[in-house]
This record gives sequence, structure tokens and C-alpha cells, in this order.
Amino acid sequence: MQRVEFDSDLVQRYDGPGPRYTSYPTAVQFHEGFGADDYARLARLSNEGDQVRPLSLYAHIPFCHSLCYYCACHKIVTRTPGVADQYLDYLFREAAMHAELYDSSRPVRQLHLGGGTPTYLTDEQMTRLMNGLGEHFPLLTEGDREYSIEIDPRTTGAETIPLLAALGFNRLSMGIQDFDPRVQRAVNRVQAPDHTLGLLHQARDEGFLSVSVDLIYGLPFQNMERFQQTLELVVDARPDRIATYNYAHLPRMVKAQRLIREEDLPSPAEKLELLTGTVEFLTRSGYEYIGMDHFALPEDELVKARDAGTLHRNFQGYSTHSDCDLVALGVSSIGKLDTCYSQNLKQRKDYYEALDAGRLPIFRGVELNPDDVLRRAVIQSIMCQDVVDMQAFSSAYGIDFHDYFAPALAALEVMERDGLVSLDQRHIRVNPKGRFLLRPVAMPFDAYLQSRESPGRFSKVI
Ligand code: SF4
Repeated sequence: MQRVEFDSDLVQRYDGPGPRYTSYPTAVQFHEGFGADDYARLARLSNEGDQVRPLSLYAHIPFCHSLCYYCACHKIVTRTPGVADQYLDYLFREAAMHAELYDSSRPVRQLHLGGGTPTYLTDEQMTRLMNGLGEHFPLLTEGDREYSIEIDPRTTGAETIPLLAALGFNRLSMGIQDFDPRVQRAVNRVQAPDHTLGLLHQARDEGFLSVSVDLIYGLPFQNMERFQQTLELVVDARPDRIATYNYAHLPRMVKAQRLIREEDLPSPAEKLELLTGTVEFLTRSGYEYIGMDHFALPEDELVKARDAGTLHRNFQGYSTHSDCDLVALGVSSIGKLDTCYSQNLKQRKDYYEALDAGRLPIFRGVELNPDDVLRRAVIQSIMCQDVVDMQAFSSAYGIDFHDYFAPALAALEVMERDGLVSLDQRHIRVNPKGRFLLRPVAMPFDAYLQSRESPGRFSKVI
């Protein structure tokens, strides 16, 4: 078991803004000079070589029935009949265009439906979606596969869980945030614990291999005493994974957040107490800290993958499949091949227009150079394994790690004095005190961050 030590003094000291490294380079580096032709060239190239990677499919369902005031996701709040069917029509057109680029023998080992709200789709639409994707890509029905969906308990009935299992999903995550009715009203997201946790138990009965719940700390009216009640209800239900996200109040950037009253938010001291108390409670309750807000039961695959060195970080957080090329479908979604990231148009109208014109709706991205590839691997190693084997990197990439990363290693020496990391000739190891501060440990290896004056576009730890 890897220990995590929460040192509030250190967390406060190192709590500057920083990327979450779901990609490297981060989205800030995506540019419009990279377009659909670049993507198509690299997608075709990914079919070549001795070790062709399996595929991962991501489909973004942007619709929501109502607005949660804290939400900074890309979503469309609507109840207009027919919007989802029209969207699926376009999604299939996009899937067909991607499918032409990839060898049909490449299996879809990983699939994720995110949003918005995937369960905005009716059961019929969900069936149509999975059948439609199956027409274009070789979906797997058994074996080593990770097919996951984000469900909103407020739009998911008990009858939907067996349907999702029958459609091939074997992982499920659900948003809870907080069960406290006062908090729920303040963020316009009211959901009953009984129904929510009932779905969790049902998913387990239906054979889902992993069920994950999302919580948020820092919401209006939260304090540790009240949040503890939510934590106890959640832990009693024993989800395999728990993610605890920090609410970042940025009303100037996120319009919906203007509906949250600043005076109702917990103070920085209360927020720190919420974080400390949550970490202590979850680890005491048998959950292991994976990294970056994620906890899992010791028998969960994430813990096993971390221990085996195969844990991977991607746009959905942590994953056990590191070797897939990610094909992203739908508005605003981000795809990843070995040497590029690509992002789709964010507005539905633009997305439809591009597809009507027979173009992939990609509007920006970035092609990685060899330095990016190396730095991405180092940052992944920090974020997922808590250790960097400098000697192994030197051999694998034909560099002298100490020379190549001399400025980064100098920055880490300061962190070593603070107890965040330990350095020896061969390894950088993240200490238990540093495991809550993976971002600052990784940031010295980010070439783009070093050349910017301020990393202020990113969120903070607390
Ligand atoms: S939190 Fe989920 S359900 Fe709520 S507005 Fe955001 S995307 Fe929609």
C-alpha cells in the first residue's frame, strides 16, 4: 500500500495554479494550424508498424436537462425534443469518417461515454448509439475491455442499468457531489441518496466490474461535519472508486457559477479542513489514494495497475489502458494518437456544418515533437507511478537524463528539502507528503510552463 501523508502547511505552500496533466502538451498548446488533414495523416500512420495499438473510443453527449451551477463542462442545457436524435445522426457520420482512417482489425479495447449527460439519451437512443458505433468500429463483447459510462442518477431509472450492461458497459461512474439537501439546492442539483445508492448496488448486481462516484468539496454551505454524512453514506455503499474534486469558483470565466453566492462558499480554512478530513476519512475507511483526487479500494484495477506500473492518465482521469489510440467523437471532444492531440469544434452548429461539408470537425490540435514525447512520459511517470527511473529514461530515449533535465532536477532539490520527493542517482521518488502535490512535482518538466510568465490559466489544488 502506498502511503499518502497530508501536510496542510506544504499543501498551502505549494498550492499554486498548475495543469492537471490529462494531456501533455496541455490544451493551452493546441493551435489552429493543426487540422483535419494533419489528423488524418497521423491516423493512417498509426496503422503501421509491428505493434499497432488498439483503439479507445470517446463519445461526448453534451446535453443536460438542467444546469448545475458549479459546472464548467462543455454542455447544452435543453429539453427540446429531437435534439439528441439529430446529434446521433451527426455522430455516426463522424464515426464513419474516422473508421475509414483506421484498420478495421484494430479492436476497441476502451470506450467511454461522457458529457454533458450520456443518460440524457433515452434507452432507445442509447441502444441506437451503441449499435451505430458497432457498425463502424469492432467493439469487443468479452475479454480485456474497459467500457464505461458517466450516469446522472437524476436521469437514470432502475431499468436502465441492466440495459447498459446488456449494451456492453462494464464500468460506471456517477455524480453525487454532496447529499446535503441545502448544498444540493444551492447548486441546483437535487438527488436523493436512496435512488443514487440504489443504482450503485444495482450496477454491482448486474456485474459492472467497477463503480465510481464523484464528490465535490468547496461547494456552498459545506463544512466537514455535514460533508462527513455524505462520506459515510458513500463509503457504506463501497463504490470501487471515489473521486473528490475541488470546486474552483471562477464566476468571471464560468457564467453558471454566477448563480452561486460567494458568501455561501466555505472559507479557505474550511476548504482545507474539508480536504484534510476527506483524505483522512477515506484512507481510514480502506481506500487507497491513487493520485490527483482519486481513491480506490485495494482490489480495484486502478490500484493493481498502479502497482504494476501500467496506470495511465488521460482525459477521464486515471485508466488502466495506456496503449490505445483515442478516437474522439462529438462536440468539443479531444482525441489522442501516439504523436498528436486533436480537438473538435465546440459549437454544435459549427460541428454540424463541418460534417455537412464532408470534413472532420477538428479545429485545433498539436503534433508532438520528440521532446514532447519524452516529457510526456516523464510527467506520466510522476502522475501515475510516483517514481521516475532516470536511468531507464536515459537508455530508452538516448539522453543523459541529468544533463537534459538539469533545470528540472534543480527545482526538485528544493522540493526534496521540503520532503516532497527523494532523489538519488537513479530515481526521483515522490514521498508520501508529495503524493498530494503531484502537479508541482511534474511542472518543472513542462517545457511550455517554464517559458510562460505565469501558469495562471490553470486551477489550484485547493
Ligand atoms: S454537472 Fe453534469 S449534469 Fe450538471 S450541468 Fe454539468 S454536465 Fe450537466
